[in-house]
Amino acid sequence: MGLFDKFKNLFSKEEKAEVEVYEKGLEKTRNEFVNKISILNSKYKKVSNEYFDELEEIFIMADIGVNTVMDFIDKLKKRVKSENIENSEDLMNIIVDEMFIIYVNNDIIVNKINYNTDGPTVILFVGVNGVGKTTTIAKLANKYKNQGKKVMMIAGDTFRAGAVSQLEEWSKRVGCDFFGKENTDPAGVIFDGIKEAQEKGDDLVLIDTAGRLHNKVNLMNELEKINKVIGRFIPEAPHETLLIIDATTGQNGIMQAKAFKEITNITGIVLTKMDGTAKGGIVLAIKEDVGLPVKFIGLGEKMTDLETFDIENYIYGLFKDMM
Ligand code: GDP
Ligand code: MG
Repeated sequence: MGLFDKFKNLFSKEEKAEVEVYEKGLEKTRNEFVNKISILNSKYKKVSNEYFDELEEIFIMADIGVNTVMDFIDKLKKRVKSENIENSEDLMNIIVDEMFIIYVNNDIIVNKINYNTDGPTVILFVGVNGVGKTTTIAKLANKYKNQGKKVMMIAGDTFRAGAVSQLEEWSKRVGCDFFGKENTDPAGVIFDGIKEAQEKGDDLVLIDTAGRLHNKVNLMNELEKINKVIGRFIPEAPHETLLIIDATTGQNGIMQAKAFKEITNITGIVLTKMDGTAKGGIVLAIKEDVGLPVKFIGLGEKMTDLETFDIENYIYGLFKDMM
């Protein structure tokens, strides 16, 4: 049984709430994809070089990285040859198959959070302004609180006016611990915050930071200082440094990921605003161009609009209407 059939069976049998979130959040991308491909399939009933050229363009427009797309098209061409496929319609399940293989064929699919079993798990959030760091912290705090964990938020973004109170507001809505002070330096706040989290016995410490990338050296120094302070309490912390990328920024987001990867040890990516883009292929581009795993995706502005990244749900969300 091919992967295509596996998906079909998997999702037609049981309606999972999680799958629905993906379906809804990826609606824009899916509609764009499916519309374009169905127009293409009625233009070319038979598979040809022209067909592949246009298919290639559709994938590139969805922000799947160029190299991934070329690789992908090559694989499709080979399979068309070896399996004697003539009709473009018959290529649909192969597209889904190969998409899945591209992502899974790699150990990059470690999307689990690295938990500390001995004391609090510390997660640092980095990324440029406006990508959704603070919102993602709120969403994650909510997720873990619902799993019965004790969560502390620390307002390490002491730079932007209102950032501290924005996080505090979220902590009240979620109902979790909060530590923050206006007009201080981030490392100091983080120092005091972690101390308090340890005293309170929090399981999870989520640290917000300011996202200034205009000066790489400054940011690097600041993050180094933050990491040192965290490490003083818990030597192996931060257990995760998550880079937040706004999916609607496309190639710009990829550039940010590359830049941050040079600055600090990023352990995973959170792709936000997937609901607001028709270019949801960026997940695949990040894997190809940056080599970092996407651990969570943001699919809306609400506290509940965050999902652990799951490749099966993602591919299903993209291609559901082609299956
Ligand atoms: P920060 O500057 O990185 O902390 O960004 P914020 O958390 O303040 O978010 C900036 C804006 O993006 C806010 O209006 C959020 O509501 C919005 N936002 C964040 N995540 C998502 C998402 O997954 N989907 C949508 N549609 N909006 C989001
Ligand atoms: Mg913020």
